[in-house]
Amino acid sequence: MKAIPYGRQYISDEDIAAVVETLRSDFLTQGPKVKEFESKFAEYVGAKYAVAVSNGTTALHLCNLALGTKFGDKVITTPITFAASANSVLYCGGEVDFVDIDPDTYLLDIDKLEEKLENAPKGTFNGVIPVDLAGYPVNVERLRQIADKYNLWILEDACHAPGGYFIDSKNSRQSCGNGVYSDLHIFSFHPVKHIATGEGGMITTNDEKLYKKLKLLCTHGITKDPELLTEDHGGWYYEMQELGYNYRISDINCALGVSQLKRAKEGVSKRNEIARKYNEAFKNIAQIKTPFIADNTYHAYHLYIILVENRKGLYDYLRKNGIYAQVHYIPVHLQPYYRRLGWKNGDLPVAEEYYEKALSLPMYPTLTDDEQNYVIDKVLEFVKNEK
Ligand SMILES: *Cc1c(COP(=O)(O)O)cnc(C)c1O
Repeated sequence: MKAIPYGRQYISDEDIAAVVETLRSDFLTQGPKVKEFESKFAEYVGAKYAVAVSNGTTALHLCNLALGTKFGDKVITTPITFAASANSVLYCGGEVDFVDIDPDTYLLDIDKLEEKLENAPKGTFNGVIPVDLAGYPVNVERLRQIADKYNLWILEDACHAPGGYFIDSKNSRQSCGNGVYSDLHIFSFHPVKHIATGEGGMITTNDEKLYKKLKLLCTHGITKDPELLTEDHGGWYYEMQELGYNYRISDINCALGVSQLKRAKEGVSKRNEIARKYNEAFKNIAQIKTPFIADNTYHAYHLYIILVENRKGLYDYLRKNGIYAQVHYIPVHLQPYYRRLGWKNGDLPVAEEYYEKALSLPMYPTLTDDEQNYVIDKVLEFVKNEK
């Protein structure tokens, strides 16, 4: 059997044809495919506005800029995420504070967050970046209540969760990225994520002011919009009104994105099927903890994370058998760079214990039954021999 990775993209013939069509068209960038991808993605997640950008990290950076993160600002996030969630605050000169994770969901612990806010002088913190780890949507309804009380913005890192949702207290379905409770949401289209464009990212929001600011910052802070211009020299005239960046995405990437988006919903439901099969296979195995699922959430399963006692043993055993499991994530606060900022072992014990045991098993829509059975057999074989 060929190697089984933890995640992989699925490129169909239709995807390839869509890209070729754009290559033959007039616009390789700043053309119609970018706008189409933005509007279709906004519709998919249920948001008013979407801004397509070069990747998930530049999306995070732009959001921090649009929210006004500056030197001395303090922003809270979770240590169990990809480093970019936290780094984006540092890009703007801000400081990151980590709050430990919930031992069940592995998401930012909202009780601990509240405790931290209560015990800090008023106005200490500016914002919070919750992360929908593995595809489990953060309960941003509850987070919003707390954020409002302490005057924080919410930038949701939803890279793992397009297609996920939770049911709020008014019994209404809140699709991840819909802009109802979070000010901004960001997504990535790196090939291991749900939708692949090579490199690519998206920001969604319902806030028109933030949307306009993001648009401006994404392309050098330059505008040609007659309503925004302060002078008019003629048809060529544009103004650079802010210090922006070139964080644009190309039409080639977006053509692939539009085509991929057609299969996105189906992909999430296939991921849920795969998760159910893993859950079933591991449900009576004492050494394995399967993912937590609440009644009111629909998991998008970017990752299928188990906790297992001898994680390194299992990782190595699977690897020897051609199964490339992965660990998500090494706690950000224990990375050498963050240690230099003062973080150390023991600061966030729940996250650190999670890291000792976490392993992401193969999870992607084209994982076949045979492949999954093989993965399950190898995992069970390992834990049986461990006894
Ligand atoms: C992938 C990812 C990012 C960064 O996205 P890129 O497109 O790789 O820059 C940020 N946060 C999380 C949680 C991610 O999984």
